[in-house]
Amino acid sequence: MQIIRSAIIVLLAGTWFAGSVQTVEAQGRAEMAIQKNDKDGDGKVSIDEWRKRRGIFRRLDTDEDGYVTLKEFRQRFGETEAAREADKKAVEASTLEGLTTASAVDRETLCAIARGRSCSIKLAIKKGLFETGLRPKFPDQANCRDIDEQWAISYTNKRDREAYHGGIDMPAPYGVPMIATAAGTVVAIYRGENSFRGKEMTIRHAPEDTGIPLWIYTQYAHFDEMPKFKVGDRVKMGQELGPTGNSGIGRNGLQSQRRRPAIHFAVFFSKSPKFIDRRERIVQVDGNWMDPNALFRKKLPLDSYSMRDLPEAEKQVPISVMMADGTTIPTDTKIVWPYKCKAN
Ligand SMILES: [Zn+2]
Repeated sequence: MQIIRSAIIVLLAGTWFAGSVQTVEAQGRAEMAIQKNDKDGDGKVSIDEWRKRRGIFRRLDTDEDGYVTLKEFRQRFGETEAAREADKKAVEASTLEGLTTASAVDRETLCAIARGRSCSIKLAIKKGLFETGLRPKFPDQANCRDIDEQWAISYTNKRDREAYHGGIDMPAPYGVPMIATAAGTVVAIYRGENSFRGKEMTIRHAPEDTGIPLWIYTQYAHFDEMPKFKVGDRVKMGQELGPTGNSGIGRNGLQSQRRRPAIHFAVFFSKSPKFIDRRERIVQVDGNWMDPNALFRKKLPLDSYSMRDLPEAEKQVPISVMMADGTTIPTDTKIVWPYKCKAN
């Protein structure tokens, strides 16, 4: 009993301490913002001293006197703290294991994985979004859906800024079911109305699901209809997720009518089981990009740096598959290609 009571006191003290640190941190950020921008030393920031977008300045300058003051920066960061607090409460109410709060993800990982407009593409590259030269080698007796747009190829001409393909695409007729590449837990299903990827779903695979000592996330995109699952559902390897389509916006923000139906298949990994769900993005705590072909090696290493440096012969990765009748090649695999294959 004594031990339990002490533990509760330690926990309460910890909570109080974390709360104080956050407040101090918010104030520190406001002061730093002044120091960084205030060139003439009058203790406030004018529009001429402001180096970021003017729209942000106008939002910060709440009394519209043409200066952002310490008080206004504090207001702004204080609101951020309030938003974090609300985020934390939502997570506490969730039963999804591993889902954590935005503050658990460092800025670099957030930028690398979510690739927001204010983020440098260099961070995504640093976290593995670059070409490795891996190619799939399907079993001789199987006829499988092959990649037509390879991993990490330049998409700069498809976007209005430097961009790389964050997955592999395999074209398939409308309606062909995408299948779960391994057993796992559904962690996200998005309608993707403003997303290049359209209707999508992400499954998280524990180390025991794949036999690989990492937490792996597989993302399936461009469904024709929303997958009939909910967050938290368990899926089996090879389970049908939903029909192939070409949902998602095209280059000019318009529905892409001429783009072929295909799966966009992406893979991420982390040593941590934790992740956040932010603006229709799953971002793993200390997450990394993975060449999806590397997953089929079923062993470490599988990071892009190691994959790029593999001898050429090892860059042909033998792919495990599920056949139309539900059998797998090899029979004991825990990982399969995200479409079933036909017998040759
Ligand atoms: Zn794609």
